[in-house]
Amino acid sequence: MLSPKARRLTQLLARLPGVGEKTAQRYLLYLLTSGTEVARELGEELARLPETLRPCVRCGNIAEVEHPNEDAVCAICRDGKRDGHLLCVVARVHDLVAIERAGSMRGRYFVLGKLLSPLEGIGPEELPLAQLVARIREDDVREIIVATPPSVDGEATALLLKRELGRELGDSALTVTRIASGVPHGGDLEFADPITMGRALSGRQKL
Ligand SMILES: [Zn+2]
Repeated sequence: MLSPKARRLTQLLARLPGVGEKTAQRYLLYLLTSGTEVARELGEELARLPETLRPCVRCGNIAEVEHPNEDAVCAICRDGKRDGHLLCVVARVHDLVAIERAGSMRGRYFVLGKLLSPLEGIGPEELPLAQLVARIREDDVREIIVATPPSVDGEATALLLKRELGRELGDSALTVTRIASGVPHGGDLEFADPITMGRALSGRQKL
């Protein structure tokens, strides 16, 4: 039904998470019929994306690129009012955003990017543990709050972090805590309301 060009665009849009073929077609038709401005602006911003936004080299959050040849550092890592001795480890940037929205985290973050998942074949060697250890040493981190989701993979990752950090930094005064389960089991941090998230953080326990 669609022309080759329209089909190509629909396929590209359908690669985005949560966007199926039908939604992709709806987006395409909207962009075609809503005037040229939205399509042009979106296209320009997307084309410049690699030069404007990158993962923060320190934590993995989204960071604005200030100079193309320099590493990008996010606003949270640059915020001098944050407690550098407190580091919250999350699986994805979505989780960082959810915790920030709750507003009770005064430290900084470290985004793992993925969770340990034996079922999906993701082993410990695929997690950025060496970078995490380096970050802990560099910033003299005293407490790690493990805020991985309360799922099987999230729990497995929390236990792995406890074990590996204990092995690497056993003689330091590092405390590893886990957010309390105000967040429903199997749930996503992204969907926790700010009050639940605040309680989960304040009720964290030693791992
Ligand atoms: Zn950062």
